Amino acid sequence: AKPGRRKIGVALVGLGYYSRDLLASALQLTQYCELRGLVTGSPEKVPQWQQEYGIADRNIYSYETMHQVADNPDIDVLYIVVPTGLHEKYALIAANAGKHVWCEKPMAMTEKECLSIIGACNKNGVQLAVGYRMQHEPNTRTVMSYASSQPYGKLKNIIAKAGYAGGAPNPDNWRLSRKLGGGALYDMGVYPINAARYTAGSEPVAVTARLEVERKNVFKEVDESAYLTLEFPGGVIAECATSVGQNMNMLRANCTKGWYELEPMQAYSGVKGRTSSGVLLDKTVANQQARQMDDDALAIFHKSPVLVPGEEGLADIRIIEAAHRSNASGKRVAL
Ligand code: NDP
Repeated sequence: AKPGRRKIGVALVGLGYYSRDLLASALQLTQYCELRGLVTGSPEKVPQWQQEYGIADRNIYSYETMHQVADNPDIDVLYIVVPTGLHEKYALIAANAGKHVWCEKPMAMTEKECLSIIGACNKNGVQLAVGYRMQHEPNTRTVMSYASSQPYGKLKNIIAKAGYAGGAPNPDNWRLSRKLGGGALYDMGVYPINAARYTAGSEPVAVTARLEVERKNVFKEVDESAYLTLEFPGGVIAECATSVGQNMNMLRANCTKGWYELEPMQAYSGVKGRTSSGVLLDKTVANQQARQMDDDALAIFHKSPVLVPGEEGLADIRIIEAAHRSNASGKRVAL
């Protein structure tokens, strides 16, 4: 199929906050995608979605019937938007049904799970894209390009922080569950970790991490804030921080001949920055998620590599696992 002639049929798997409040409306703004299907464990949510987005009865699935999407030509992509601890389970069902997989961040809980998703997608000849929307954002892309063009000289150090002062989640919210992928480091930590990696343009060789909980009556299983020092080749150090209890949102690269920064570096809109020579990083994009999904749809049409492959998710999860080991031992962990 060629773009223009038909659209990529997307089914959202998990109809929670991100699907409902961001992806569904973004899909209406895409050029190459169409919201055609739903996979949900909550049948009571379905009528409103069908009414709002005109989704056919034949394209509604539960988690138990989801594998039957294999026989449904309306659906090209299953977009996995369930709690992180369930990404692997549903990504595998999607890939084994022969459908392309778009998987929300963080990709999964462990390196092993990430490798299993990548393996299943490869085996079934389907594409896999991770929902790191920042990598589709134009000012972020400019910063990413500086890693190789080095307009301000050699990189010396990086500071990357993303967090928000969230209210206390409901006690049964999966974001408080270790097993389902809660905690600041998984949920928000992937933003500074991913940013440190794309700013450095290389993989870290070691991590030293400290996980903290302020509200001990709320965060019983998982971290509320995390602080990481990543050591990159050539002596470049990245200081990363993340939190679901404090606001923080910036990326700065200090180089031998200047600096550049984004603030906020992680937001649904309004990501902007500047450089030491007065360059403004102030491009705009109408809708980040629409841009992301169109980029990923074009990769399917053109059978070309996706912008954010599974290996990107895997690299960050490897660091998160090492950060947990570092926190437990109080020691630097080589990667
Ligand atoms: P929510 O809790 O709001 O929604 C998750 C949905 O997953 C639920 O509504 C439910 O949908 C489904 N689900 C299936 N099994 C379970 C289970 N055991 N417990 C809870 N829910 C379950 O989470 P979010 O939408 O905020 O997050 C979903 C994913 O999206 C996460 O991986 C998160 O990291 C990612 N995300 C990404 C963002 C980004 O900017 N890229 C922003 C926010 C989230 P149903 O009732 O339909 O079955």
